[in-house]
This record gives sequence, C-alpha cells and structure tokens, in this order.
Amino acid sequence: MSVLTRNEAQTRAQLLDVHRYTVDLDLTTGEATFDSTTAIRFTARTAGDTFVEIKPETLRSLSLDGQPLDPERLDGNRYPLDRLTAGPHELTVAATMRYSRTGEGMHRFTDPADGETYVYTQLFMEDVQRVFAAFDQPDLKSVFDLTVTTPTGWTVLGNGVSTQAADGRWHIAPTPPISTYLVAVAAGPWHSVTTQHAGLPFGIHCRRSLAPHLDADADEILDITRACYDRYHEKFDEPYPFDSYDQAFVPEFNAGAMENPGLVTFRDEFVYRSAVTDTERQTRAMVVAHEMAHMWFGDLVTLTWWDDIWLNESFAEYMGYQTLTEATRFTDTWTDFGVARKGWGYDADQRPSTHPVAPDPDAVPDTASALLNFDGISYAKGASALRQLVAWLGEKDFLAGINTHFSRHKFANATLADFIDNLATATDRDVHTWADAWLRTTGVDTLTAHVATSGHSWNLTVDRAGDRPHRVTVGTYDHSLDTHTGTDQLTLRDRFDIDIPQDGTPVTQPGHRPDLVVLNDHDLTYAKIRLDPGSWDTALTHLSGIPDPLTRALVWNTARDMVRDGELHPTVHLTAARTHLPYETDLALVQGVLGFAATQIADRYLPPQDRPTALATLTSLCRDLLRRTEGLTAKDWEQAPGTTTPGSPDPGLRLIAVRHFIDAATQPDAIQDWLREGTVPGGPELDAELRWRILTRLAVLGATDETAIAHELDKDPSATGQEGAARCRAALPTAEAKAAAWQAMFTDDTLSNYLFTATAQGFWQPGQSELLHPYVARYYPDAIALAARRGPAIAEAAGRHAFPAHAVDPDSIRLGEQALTDPALTPALRRKLTDQLDDLRRALAVRDAH
Ligand SMILES: [Zn+2]
Repeated sequence: MSVLTRNEAQTRAQLLDVHRYTVDLDLTTGEATFDSTTAIRFTARTAGDTFVEIKPETLRSLSLDGQPLDPERLDGNRYPLDRLTAGPHELTVAATMRYSRTGEGMHRFTDPADGETYVYTQLFMEDVQRVFAAFDQPDLKSVFDLTVTTPTGWTVLGNGVSTQAADGRWHIAPTPPISTYLVAVAAGPWHSVTTQHAGLPFGIHCRRSLAPHLDADADEILDITRACYDRYHEKFDEPYPFDSYDQAFVPEFNAGAMENPGLVTFRDEFVYRSAVTDTERQTRAMVVAHEMAHMWFGDLVTLTWWDDIWLNESFAEYMGYQTLTEATRFTDTWTDFGVARKGWGYDADQRPSTHPVAPDPDAVPDTASALLNFDGISYAKGASALRQLVAWLGEKDFLAGINTHFSRHKFANATLADFIDNLATATDRDVHTWADAWLRTTGVDTLTAHVATSGHSWNLTVDRAGDRPHRVTVGTYDHSLDTHTGTDQLTLRDRFDIDIPQDGTPVTQPGHRPDLVVLNDHDLTYAKIRLDPGSWDTALTHLSGIPDPLTRALVWNTARDMVRDGELHPTVHLTAARTHLPYETDLALVQGVLGFAATQIADRYLPPQDRPTALATLTSLCRDLLRRTEGLTAKDWEQAPGTTTPGSPDPGLRLIAVRHFIDAATQPDAIQDWLREGTVPGGPELDAELRWRILTRLAVLGATDETAIAHELDKDPSATGQEGAARCRAALPTAEAKAAAWQAMFTDDTLSNYLFTATAQGFWQPGQSELLHPYVARYYPDAIALAARRGPAIAEAAGRHAFPAHAVDPDSIRLGEQALTDPALTPALRRKLTDQLDDLRRALAVRDAH
C-alpha cells in the first residue's frame, strides 16, 4: 500500500476537478464483506496521468467513460488512470470490501448483549479507501450521493437526511461539497431520539442494548447540542452548512468522536451505563461542543493538506471549552482544561518528538507522518496558543477574523497562511509575527517570578526562559482568618495584566509583599510557571485555601511539572495531595491530582520499595474523602445531574474516592466486603463499572479466580462485561494467565481494538514485576510484528496500553532503544515507542534526582 505524499496530492489537485460520487453499498452480503459500487464524475483540466485509490478484498470491475478497464492493474491501493484526456470523465468501480474489527474503515460489531449487529464508518485520513474508490485527499471536495442496502429492520444514518425508498434500501440526501475523509455511514437497528431545532432534524442514536441509558440522558445531551448550536450562530456569520445534525454513539470507536458533517460519531462509553461524576458529564458536553465547532472549522472550511490538522483541532478544542462556559451550566471548563489537558501538551512538548504547533509543510510529506500529529501539541498546546491569541487580540477582533476566513473559503480549503491573513484583516496588531513566535517554534517557555520589597512597595520581575511574548494576569493574595471556621484562608488582593518580556523595569505595587503572587493567574498563557520562594511556601501550605479553582489548577500544575523536572520530591507532592485534597471542592482537580499521584508518582516516580507507603497514603486520603461525603441519601444519588442539595456532600466526589480507593487497595478485605454486600457502606450501590473495577483489583492482588470472573460475566454479558472479564483475566498474577493474555494480544490476531486494549490494561501491573519480567524483552519484537500485521489502530493500542511502562530501569530502556533501529518498525508504533521510552527515561531521572 502506498501512502499519499503532499507532492502527489498537489499534482492531482491541479489536474482534477471532482464533481460527484454516486456510491452504492450493499450490506447484505454476509458477515465478512460488503459490496461497493462507485461512479465518480470529474473533469481533467489537461491531459495527464493520475490514479484513484481503493483497498478492496476483490476488485471486480472498472470502467472509464463506458470502456472497461483491467482490474488486474490495481497496484497496492492505487489504480492507475494514465493518458487521461482533458475534459469530463466518469469512472465506475465495483468491488468487494472487507469489514474491519479495528475501528477503521467499515467497522462491524455484534452486540453480545442481544446479538444485534451494527456497522459504521471511520474514514479519517485515508480509510475511505476501505469503503469505496476515491481520489482521496482533503482538497478534492465533491458532492457525495450514497445509497445503502441493509438487512430488514435497520436504520441508515449519513451526512444528509436518509430516507428508506424500499424495504432495506436507503438513500442519503446528497451532500454539499465535502472532503472524502468526512463521508460517514452508520447502519443497524439503532435506538434513536429525534427532535427538531432551528428548522433542522436533530437526532441522537445508540445500539439498542444501551437505549435506557441514552433515554435517561437524552434531554441533557440535546439541551447542550441546542445551546451550542445557538451560541455558534451568535459567534459565526455563516449558518450551519448541512441539512441535519445527528450524533451517533457507536461501539468500539477508537477516538473520542469524529466530526463527520451532519453525522458526528462518538465512542459509546459516552452513553453512561454506570454512575459518573459531573466532570465526566462536562467532558461529554465538551466533546459535543468540540465536534460541532468542526462543522464550520474543518468541514465547511477544510485544511488543504494534513500539515494543518492542528488548526482544525486547536480551534475546535478552544471553541469547545469556551462555548460551554458561555452557553451551558458548565462554567468552570477551563479548570478542567488546565488540569486534564494542558499537561498533555506540556508533556508532549518536552519530548524529543515535539514539533511546532504548525509544522513546516515539508515536515508532513505524507499521510503516515500526518497521523503522528494527533497529539498533545495539536490539541492542547494549540488550543492554549489560541487562548493566548484571543487574550492578546481581544475576542471581537478574533471572531471578525474567523468570520472573514469562513466567508472566503466556505465549501473549499484553506491553509495556515490564509488563516493568519484573514485574522490580520481584523486587527492592527502584527499577527504574522505572533504566529511565527507561537506556532512555528517548539518547547515550553518557563516564567519565573522574583518578588522583592523596597520601602513601602514591592516589585515583581519575571525571568523568561524561551522566546515567546506572553500576556499574563498576576494574582496577589494575602492570609486572612475565616471568622466562621477559624481557618486560615487566602484572599485575593489584586489582579493585573503584564506583558512578558517586561520593558526593563519591574512592576512596582504599593504595600507589603503579598503572601502569594501567582503568575498566569487566569491560566491564559502556555508556559511552565515557577513561583518565588515565599509564594511557593504559601502555596504548599495553603493550596486548598486559594479561592479560585483555576488558580489552584495552575499551582497544582506547577507542582506537577516540578516533580517531572526533578525539582520537587514526589513525596512532597503526595503530602500536598494528602493535606489539601480532602478540602478540594472542584471535582476535576480532585480527579486530576489523584490520577497523577496514583499513576505517575506511586507507580513510576517512586522506587518500588516506596510504592506500598504511597498507596497507603492514597487509600487514607480516599477514606478521608469518604468520611467527608457521608450522609448521602438514595435521593442524592438519583438527583438530576448538576443539581446538588445545598450543604449536602457531592456524590461525584464520593464516587472519585471510591474508584481511587479500589485502585490503590493493597489488601483485599474492604473491597471484598463491598463486592459481597453489593454496596459501599453509605453508598453508592455497586453498578457494573464498580463491580468490574473491584474484581480487577482483586485479580491484581491474587484474591479472585476464573470462577468468580466467569460468574460476573454471566451477570453482565455486555460488551463492557466482556472487556471487564478480559482485563481481570489478564491481571491475574499467574504464569498461565499472563501467557494466555500475551497469546491473545500478540499471536491470535482476533481481538477487536477494544478487547485488545482491555487485555493490555490488565496485563502490566506495577506490583507484578517478577512475573512480568520476561515479557519486557518479548514486547518489542512482538509489538513490531503485530503493528505491521494489524495496522495503525492496533499499533496505537499496543504502543499505548501494552507497553511495559512500569519497567523503569536502564535495561528496559536499552532494549527499547535497540528496537527503535528495527527497520520493520511502522511509523505509528515508532512514534509511540519513542515517547514511551522518553517517559521511562524521565521516570528514571526523577528517581535519580532525589
Ligand atoms: Zn476534533
């Protein structure tokens, strides 16, 4: 198979003008394959040679302008169209195509809960070729006109409104001009909730076995959808460009969601089967808002080449968080962004694989290299850069520039240069220079505050390691005694904006020096922050007393990257978490800090002999949180999301404590009691998610067995139940269990993407290093061969979840470095291994620093 290069795409875009695809898919031909017939109408501007792409099981026939072509001439995924004459043409291609089990192309899933089958497409980047023949590149936009034949009783969803012409024969309304990677079909006996908004049909869909769970949240999901839709129409001049808005929650989806015009697909974990926190509801809402932003940015105006995927993703990420705060009950989204997303950007930006937010086009020569850029840089750093841009330009000018961009390039394509030129029309500021400094460079600046007192005033100097201009807010805080509780609080004294670099003179403020000076207080810029020593002492002792959760998120992030940089002992971070989290009210913060403490500090940054103490600290912290959230009634647990009884504890906080207590338990007794009783004392009652979680932990501890796992699977035979059982079985601390899991992952090649991931998650456990030691060396050759056999989605899962991340030692790093020289290594796995090895080296450096 050949990957498309940028040069080839440019040549083909100059030659061809594509008008219309008429596609006929027959999904009634069996479980392994489906039939695909495509007619493409296009014009060649001059005579020339080109090619069309397809990845068939069997290429049955082709014709050009009515003349048959020889199917044998297919070369990999390319069929040559040579000596094409200038003028209009029609190419028809008939093929048998294979369903996928890896979430790529046309994924086919049979629900173990009820035996119903569903298919959906994920055509991103170059997987349209797995479904029908196409000139597959983003700047050859076309009308798509699809007809789909299905078994009786199915519903077909597509980019446009679908109608059933005859039994099982569905026609989808033709699209306006869109890119090949944005075509979508989802078919099966869907459960649907439909409504109308602003004169358009809106629908949400999921598989039937999830129907009660979707129904329970339908109002919430549709309310957020409508609110975002209306808010985008206030921001954007161009109206929503498509004829309907469907959101399908589909099984075994690899990403969070995909922005297909008129048919967004989401992973169906977003249909919550078990109790979730309000932060998780906020995340789902954010994804709804993110994907809808893509309808304009990505779908209406599309990148010309894949070097600009960051522009799609940064924009949607920024808009998603910002629009939620403006239009929904989720008004604290930037705290969650700070704690859950920014670290992803900072971490990626400090690895050897980092790249500029906007890479040089030559750095993305083909689709394989473009795929590697779906990372913390393109999403989190890019969105942070846009947030800084809005702070610097002002939102009014930013939106004026965006609207110019939409009106100039609608239903067509644009580049970063177009985007910057369009922003420049809306402001006197030098956007081009800003873009060079922020978008064309790599790495994280570090801003260090120095505070000095002189007479009756104090002053602030900021050292900058790095070259970017920053506009930041400085917050100053003083101790005050809360007379009601008798506790020592911090009170905001002042906030003011400064530009960095400073113009040579320190900022001078009247009065004594504040107890705490926070640089980047509103978290408007993207930089590592170092507080002055006096402020750092205050922060460590009074973190939970800082009034604004966004400020607390910033200080926690500072502590986090000081640990990663070897400047703060991991146990100091753990002690701060033990001290302050019992008083933390922001769920995203509790979740984020506990997650870092458990998976990084306890599992990787501390040496193995210190891990039991760290886990004991975490379980005692969780017990504290459980005590703080006692007294919840059944009514509290069932209450509508987002509404809490004043003065009553937050069920979400208790749920986080329960989950982390389970994951950190070093003794089986307490959680075994919970499982037997079916409830945590004082609630919640155990739902499927918590039961599987406990069973996984018992498996890790060697306190359960195959009989108990099989029994649990009888009770919950759903897809999540299958994943839970696979995770538990792989986690059992026996040589047989590990051998069976390894065989399933690396030899059998039958696991779906989701079952592979679940097995990998169970397999590696930091407390089982002796048992797992032989697999560290086996991992590299086996993963390299697997990635070559099973493609990018499984390679991603193998690199992310099946990697021996707890083997923090020089031998393991050396094995990995050797593997990087293997010529059989695929680009997707190479990138994952490079990053994982860098994380191992960092963990080792953190251990060595203290
Ligand atoms: Zn996106």
